[in-house]
Amino acid sequence: MEHFIEGVHNYCDRWCERCVFTDRCRVFYMEEKDRKISAHDPKWETSLEPITKTLEEAKIMLEKMANEKGIDLAETDQEFEKERADKKSRVENHPLMKKSMDYLELSGEWLEKGQVKDNTDKIFQEVNLGIKSMQEGEREILLLRDSLEVIRWYQPLIAAKCHRALLGKEDEYNKHFAEEERDYNGSAKIARIAIERSMRAWASLLGFFEEEESAIFRILASLQQAQQVLERAFPNMDHFIRPGFDE
Ligand code: SF4
Repeated sequence: MEHFIEGVHNYCDRWCERCVFTDRCRVFYMEEKDRKISAHDPKWETSLEPITKTLEEAKIMLEKMANEKGIDLAETDQEFEKERADKKSRVENHPLMKKSMDYLELSGEWLEKGQVKDNTDKIFQEVNLGIKSMQEGEREILLLRDSLEVIRWYQPLIAAKCHRALLGKEDEYNKHFAEEERDYNGSAKIARIAIERSMRAWASLLGFFEEEESAIFRILASLQQAQQVLERAFPNMDHFIRPGFDE
């Protein structure tokens, strides 16, 4: 369909509920179609039939291509396997992975501690005692919820996008394109957007959790470090134009 923006879903944050391009995104359209089918057929979602059919079709196509190119699919290419393992190791040991994983761990530990519920209860209590007005209480709860939603959404995405960007940079395929068109710059760009939004959300939590100030500052510092390493690793990410979002 012509109204779709080609590739818009490749450099988004997958937060469809908050996306302005749902009506121009092929992925959203397909997923919406699946949701409608499964609403009428509860067995559809757990049925393996569509997946099996797609896999069979892919297998036939792969065998045909391998035949044409004289490739033996059963044979292991040792050199290729070694190269792949080296790339994987370089990506996993890159300082950017270390920093983004540090953030994932630190933020995860904090979110699991349970202060969020205590703080929400405290706001309700202050409203009940008349220390805060109903509107003030509602406003605070909404801000708190929104900040936490942002933090939770981007928390796993940051490391995943950094990983994708680093892996892409290792890939020979990207070298056929001009720097500003290389896919890894798009992944790096969305990783930086996720970091910036997370930083704003953590900063707004500071007003709610005074006694957690030093823990939150540590988390913010880990995000800042990830951002600095990301910017050093992908100095040209700003030249990448994400379809839809940056046009
Ligand atoms: S572009 Fe928007 S609608 Fe499409 S997958 Fe990404 S977030 Fe969802």
